[in-house]
Amino acid sequence: MVLKIVQAGEPVLRQRAREVTPEELSSPEVKSLIALMRDTMRDTPGVGLAAPQVGVGLRVVVVEDRPEYQAGLSAEELAARERKPVPFHVLINPRLVVEDPTPVEFHEGCLSVSGYTALVSRARGVRVEALDENGTPVSISARGWYARILQHEVDHLEGTLYVDRMETRSFSLLENHRRHWAGRSVAEVRKALGLPERQG
Ligand code: ZN
Repeated sequence: MVLKIVQAGEPVLRQRAREVTPEELSSPEVKSLIALMRDTMRDTPGVGLAAPQVGVGLRVVVVEDRPEYQAGLSAEELAARERKPVPFHVLINPRLVVEDPTPVEFHEGCLSVSGYTALVSRARGVRVEALDENGTPVSISARGWYARILQHEVDHLEGTLYVDRMETRSFSLLENHRRHWAGRSVAEVRKALGLPERQG
């Protein structure tokens, strides 16, 4: 069974999700929510999903970047994105700290803004402190695409969507992105869109 992913305009996507209590963490409801979020993310597929995206205002995130999701990207594109497979894991009540603030810009999408993409600048490196599904504290240091996923998902818990951070002129239907922009460097895309060159 999979859950319905709510789309932009749904109020829950704009509200701050609340902390999961220790009692809730061991409850069948939260265990079931995590399993359903995992299945929903895999079904779509996506590399991350936050509970507000399935209409639940709790600070729960699932992440998984499978090798097969990266098959459409060249070795150069994967290297530029610092993208490597990330095994499935759960983050409860995550707290995110930027470790490497170097801005990195790439196209990003969201299952709750279905069918669109835009350039979004994210910090290159972050650390996330959270609990896993068993309530065990975890500390994750992530760089590149994994750091992007974590920033995107933790944003969801604050009611923030990537459209709040995007380079607005780059906003595109995914279909048009594939047709006109995929495979071009970010620098080329920025130039073609009439955007100033980025520093560094
Ligand atoms: Zn999203």
